[in-house]
Amino acid sequence: MKTIPTPVKHVLIVGGGTAGWLTAAFLARTLGADAAPGAGADSVRITLVESKEIGIIGVGEGTFPSIRGTLAAIGIDEARFIRECNATFKQGIKFTDWVRPPGTPGNDHYFHPFSLPSQRPGGAELLPYWLQGAAPAGVGFAAAATMQKRVADASHGPKRFNDADFMGPLNYAYHFDAGKFATLLSTHAQSLGVRHVLATVERVTLDGQGAIGAVHTKEAGELTADLYIDCTGFRAALIGDALGTPFRNINDTLFVDRALAMQVPYDTADAPIPSYTIATAHEAGWTWDIGLHQRRGIGYVYSSRHTDDTRAEQVLRAYIGKASDGLNPRQLKLNVGYREQHWVKNCVAVGLSGGFLEPLESSGIGLIETAAYLVSYLFPHDGEMAPVARVFNEMMKARYERIVDFVKLHYCLTQRRDHAFWTDNTAPASIPESLRDKLAMWRRRAPHRMDFVVDLEMYPPSSWQYVLYGMEYPTAQYANASTLPRFEEARKEFQMIELMSHRALADLPTHRALIDHFLQRG
Ligand code: FAD
Repeated sequence: MKTIPTPVKHVLIVGGGTAGWLTAAFLARTLGADAAPGAGADSVRITLVESKEIGIIGVGEGTFPSIRGTLAAIGIDEARFIRECNATFKQGIKFTDWVRPPGTPGNDHYFHPFSLPSQRPGGAELLPYWLQGAAPAGVGFAAAATMQKRVADASHGPKRFNDADFMGPLNYAYHFDAGKFATLLSTHAQSLGVRHVLATVERVTLDGQGAIGAVHTKEAGELTADLYIDCTGFRAALIGDALGTPFRNINDTLFVDRALAMQVPYDTADAPIPSYTIATAHEAGWTWDIGLHQRRGIGYVYSSRHTDDTRAEQVLRAYIGKASDGLNPRQLKLNVGYREQHWVKNCVAVGLSGGFLEPLESSGIGLIETAAYLVSYLFPHDGEMAPVARVFNEMMKARYERIVDFVKLHYCLTQRRDHAFWTDNTAPASIPESLRDKLAMWRRRAPHRMDFVVDLEMYPPSSWQYVLYGMEYPTAQYANASTLPRFEEARKEFQMIELMSHRALADLPTHRALIDHFLQRG
């Protein structure tokens, strides 16, 4: 018997971390929440229930530039965000010791900048010319194709004091305090009319069709809705526990499955703050090092198959040095993989409940942004869930698959053979076929934007190029003067980028001065 769909008038979001509150704010802003001042008759009731006892995961402090569009879309201005979230600017990621072990001759780091390569001459891509030797000898692709690496290396920020909110000559994202971000989002979403219930969900019951029927809480009794959004983090209380949606573990491709995290004070109040994440490779994983305004967030993500927790803590403490004395790391176990289906009947998973790959390249919050955007724009007002669920699931699965390839790219091209973790990462069986195919093509030609279905990618083609050649991939391209006719123009362009980056240093304030400016703007 076919049931008549019920219009979706009430959404219940379970979980109040970055996923829950970001989705709540996005829905309230795009659909209109019924508790907002002046709400229309066609607005939707949006309730967020979160547990006081369980709390949020409290990591996830690096973002991708898409976050600027998201903050603007939900109506949070840049100064407020920077002030309330202890935020700093992020111009990219510095990868240290990923290509070869420390102390080996050769470059010890490369940079993944967020700014795109210069598009001149005549709109032609610069990469094939860089491969053909048009840039000064020894200058890596990222440093040759954009001025961002030089600016970031010199501790300057990506924008000027008087640039408009979320705008600047260089592309950027942020680092921020995850707890403070959840608090800001919560205050903001409630001002947009989201209802807030503090209660712990103890049990979830299904209806006759096997969809979510109700969630039962300790403090607020039974809560029901037309659409449920599971933002309960790794617990996945609705999509996993209640609906039993299969989880695709991808630990055979991405090995890291544990993290140790610490919040570390600066040595001095005016210590320079890097405007990039420092990702340093170690024997069985890598450390992230994120500079916030008042502290650093540092963590070691590692593979439990390749090391043990005691050794991991030694590696983390050795990286931090004396500043780790007296501090205790938090340990986290990671479920690495994703749901084959993120939207099942009347339940959508957003955030860690839907999947998690690993912190490298900050895909977690980027995927939350995508999911919140899709739920809002595909919103099944008339209650017809199945077509919307199909589109949503296809889009999310495709995104996850592409991110897995991109993250694996960082590992599988390593020349490190000093520990099993690195050797195992280069084993062909651990590399998805889709990535192996790409790498095979790129042996004889440069990657091109036509290699990517850009709407399904979280990372633009230039990010792939920066990582590929940062990892020193040996492309021996078929090329000559007739296939690369703009060689001379490209050579001049590379010189111009270098010249412009010196000018940019005079124009752009230091990173710390830029943050202080935002804090003083009040
Ligand atoms: P959580 O923060 O865990 O929130 C879950 C919420 O659900 C909480 O409010 C909790 O109280 C509530 N809840 C759970 N069970 C119940 C229940 N039964 N009843 C009521 N409420 C309940 N992402 C990035 O983009 N960049 C990074 O640099 C990055 N680094 C990371 C590093 C590590 C080590 C890890 C593990 C993740 C990292 N991520 C990163 C991912 C990022 O942390 C998450 O995507 C993000 O914080 C969203 O988490 P969440 O809201 O899904 O879950």
